[in-house]
Amino acid sequence: MFVLGVRFAQYLNGVSELHGRVARRMWSHAWPKRSEDEIPITHVTNGVHVPTWISYEFALLFERYLGPDWSISPWKKDISKRIEEIYNEELWRAHEMNRSRLIRTCRELMKQQYQRRNAPKAVMDEVEAVLDQDILTIGFARRFASYKRAYLLLMDPERLEAIITSKTHPVQFIFSGKAHPKDREGKDLIRQLILFSQKKGVRHRFIFLENYDPHIARHLIQGADVWLNTPRRPYEACGTSGMKAALNGVLNISTLDGWWAEGYSESTGWCIGNGEEYSDHKYQDAVESQALYNILENDVIPLFYERKNGDLPLQWIKMMKAAMKMAMLRFSSHKMVENYGKRFYLPAASRMRGLVENEAAEAKRLSRQLDRLKAHWDNIQIKSPVMNSKDPLHTGATVHVTAEVHLGQLMPHEVSVDIYYGPLKTVETLQTSNTEKMTVKEDRGNGNYVYGCDLTLNRTGRYGFTCRVTPQGDDWVKFTPGLVTWAIP
Ligand SMILES: *Cc1c(COP(=O)(O)O)cnc(C)c1O
Repeated sequence: MFVLGVRFAQYLNGVSELHGRVARRMWSHAWPKRSEDEIPITHVTNGVHVPTWISYEFALLFERYLGPDWSISPWKKDISKRIEEIYNEELWRAHEMNRSRLIRTCRELMKQQYQRRNAPKAVMDEVEAVLDQDILTIGFARRFASYKRAYLLLMDPERLEAIITSKTHPVQFIFSGKAHPKDREGKDLIRQLILFSQKKGVRHRFIFLENYDPHIARHLIQGADVWLNTPRRPYEACGTSGMKAALNGVLNISTLDGWWAEGYSESTGWCIGNGEEYSDHKYQDAVESQALYNILENDVIPLFYERKNGDLPLQWIKMMKAAMKMAMLRFSSHKMVENYGKRFYLPAASRMRGLVENEAAEAKRLSRQLDRLKAHWDNIQIKSPVMNSKDPLHTGATVHVTAEVHLGQLMPHEVSVDIYYGPLKTVETLQTSNTEKMTVKEDRGNGNYVYGCDLTLNRTGRYGFTCRVTPQGDDWVKFTPGLVTWAIP
């Protein structure tokens, strides 16, 4: 299905920077003989609709401090920077209001959950009083696909229990989410969480809400203090719940996957690991679950409970503001739609008009061009480039490079001949690839040409060179699979 879509599409994009890179690697086989960094898949990072996901209390603060345009132009710097001006006391009270509302909602939902099972009165009494108004509240809610690794937090249950039941710095967890009915592994994860949530010592501070939906999501991403995400890099395409959380001053802890690989900074949240990818998943889980406990114990919990100056966690509030600004500026759906519009929809619409006007003259021309290229492409031959310099290359040196090309029936204006070069990583692979257009230096007749160009090398080290022929013209023609010929070494 993907390849079918690709062949009909003019523009292709992933939904985060990392996803774009992963998609180029995954689908490079759909463009044979193209290098990975040239696969025509780009990215537009997803965004969230600010007025939909912002809490009521925060919307009131934004109205007062940011002005009426915050909901239609959240990406504007001069609007989001006014977040700094919100009084710490007001921001914290608004956030505490959101946390209270979350806890009230959780109790209500838990009551319904246990009533459905005809739980005895003693259990009902306990259920109606779960959670605490004033303690550090960590939310985790999403689809229980196995790559999201909800079990990471449970890998050392004793250490987790100690975190939850601390006398001075207690922590509570709210989990929610669904697995696909046929996803045995996902359902098993939920079972593990529910089993843990029924343990006597922790069950008032570790709950699992059934029937995850946008209503539960809204309360969680507004009222938690921390939003936890543990995907196995690079499986998360983007993930948007963390953006909703950040918008509401809820701080993210996540592996550097999906959008968090772009959004993370020390001032806006915490990262588990440094974006490593592992082939040994068991080992990765062990390392990253330890990292998660360490972050909680050493960074998150102490910061939340630091109340030296009165009753406000000032450093925490500073991070809340930085996270809110980051989400408003860079991850609003307004920004995303603008991106799609400018880069794809508008150019596509104008291209469509260009293709169909004058009885589709341009579309017919492109089709004839492609037929002609396909008919003659296999006759193209190109020899390895030759350099005029015999001296060892040094930084800043300019070298003249030539290549003999046989184009057969095709004309020079129909193709593009490029030198393809870069510093070498190994004998065969370039670290980064660069291309430089070559021009005809000599017409030797019968479709034989000498192409050449000057290159200035601006890095030291060993360089690799080759050259190739691709079609001249628009991307649809240029990236037709098969229409690329590399030099024979
Ligand atoms: C935002 C949202 C999602 C997507 O969240 P991820 O971070 O991508 O898992 C899923 N479900 C609901 C109800 C949401 O509101």
